Amino acid sequence: MVLRPRCREPVSLSSLPPLRKHLSTPGLLESIRLSFAPIPDPRSGCPIPLVDALMSGLAVFSLKYPSLLKFDEAYQNEEVIRANLKSLYGVEHAPCDTQLRTRLDPIDPESLRPAFAAVHRQLQRGKALEDYTYWEGHYLVSIDGTGQYASSAIRCPECCIRNEGKANESYYHQLLAAVIIHPDLKTVLPFMPEAITRADGACKNDCERNAAKRLLSHLREDHPKLKMIVVEDSLASNGPHIKLLESLDIRYILGVKPGDHEALFEAVQERLCTDQCPEYSHIDEHGVEHGYRWVNGLSLNKAHPEQKVNFLEYWEIKNGQEKIWTWITDIPLTQDNVEAIMRAGRARWKIENETFNTLKNQGYHLEHNYGHGKKHLSTVFATLTVLAFLVDQVQELSCRLFQAARARFRSRTSLWERLRALFTDFFIPDWKTLWEVIAIGHAASVLTPKPNTS
Ligand SMILES: [Zn+2]
Repeated sequence: MVLRPRCREPVSLSSLPPLRKHLSTPGLLESIRLSFAPIPDPRSGCPIPLVDALMSGLAVFSLKYPSLLKFDEAYQNEEVIRANLKSLYGVEHAPCDTQLRTRLDPIDPESLRPAFAAVHRQLQRGKALEDYTYWEGHYLVSIDGTGQYASSAIRCPECCIRNEGKANESYYHQLLAAVIIHPDLKTVLPFMPEAITRADGACKNDCERNAAKRLLSHLREDHPKLKMIVVEDSLASNGPHIKLLESLDIRYILGVKPGDHEALFEAVQERLCTDQCPEYSHIDEHGVEHGYRWVNGLSLNKAHPEQKVNFLEYWEIKNGQEKIWTWITDIPLTQDNVEAIMRAGRARWKIENETFNTLKNQGYHLEHNYGHGKKHLSTVFATLTVLAFLVDQVQELSCRLFQAARARFRSRTSLWERLRALFTDFFIPDWKTLWEVIAIGHAASVLTPKPNTS
């Protein structure tokens, strides 16, 4: 079988960049494997070591298999899959789909936290985070929640419940995610997400707020020296949340809405009427007007008058249409920094577009039910999905060989299809060879195909 290159420009093997040592697939998988190794095994005497079960689970999401069963069928039927799991993921004994669910269900999702910290450590050591510093050495961290599981039939003790006790009762899981973003960079770098569980409360606001307390505290514990500015939507613009941010030495840019923050907007109006609200605007080379208006040192609301915040309004007039955004921040606002604050606030959407949309629609199947389990399985699978996404994002940012492979495909989904096809059909000695083969678009001359048994 000869696989033809997909782009017109031929690429030679010798022209390809080298694989990075640590910020590459094998380097990152090795870091993750080392962080999985100390996790206590709830089942002693099992023939499949827990670290193999965890790496196999990660492999499912790294290879973007749409179901465990499919992975299992391929594994059972193909010697090549067994060999590739060993050479690429270090899996000595791969579990079948049922074993995988049984082994991972009792694992406390918290035990996966060191794996995320290990990848972030490599990012810092490799100086890959430097491009993400945004304001006075601070990184922007966008935080938001998203649905991960929904069913009207299958539930576990951690499921949140909608319409409890009614005929249309249903069950769901959500994740609260935190990702490092930069307005000028497409790649986002997720931290360990926080599962929103039944214990978090009865309504959406309670759930997200309680999960946010855990997420922020964990973020600070895992990264004690990281200078952070969180960007969040208006749900976060409340006294207790802002006090928590301040206690953790985390700065903020949070959305506010006139309907939810009446007293704040009235105070801005008063300042406007007494000419105490600086503003300026300019028209860019495309004829778009950008305007800014700001007030420092306002009370957040009547419930927390002692909580002082700085208010920024930004408007954009394009083709006669006006759009307005408003935020509060603890950063003192001046004419010199309002544009930077506005860009940071508007970059919050990257958690929707570049993170949740990618995880749900570009091959990661975040909302797919790979198995629900009786304890933590749903959260463990979702956490491994985000971990696989983090590994991909780091490579996309830092590894030029991965970038060369990625460049051959218009969409990520096409790259993952190619990756799975090679994984299933050829013996692959290592990740370097695999990315090289994808980059040059020519497999047969480099790899050994699976034995023809037909
Ligand atoms: Zn559940």
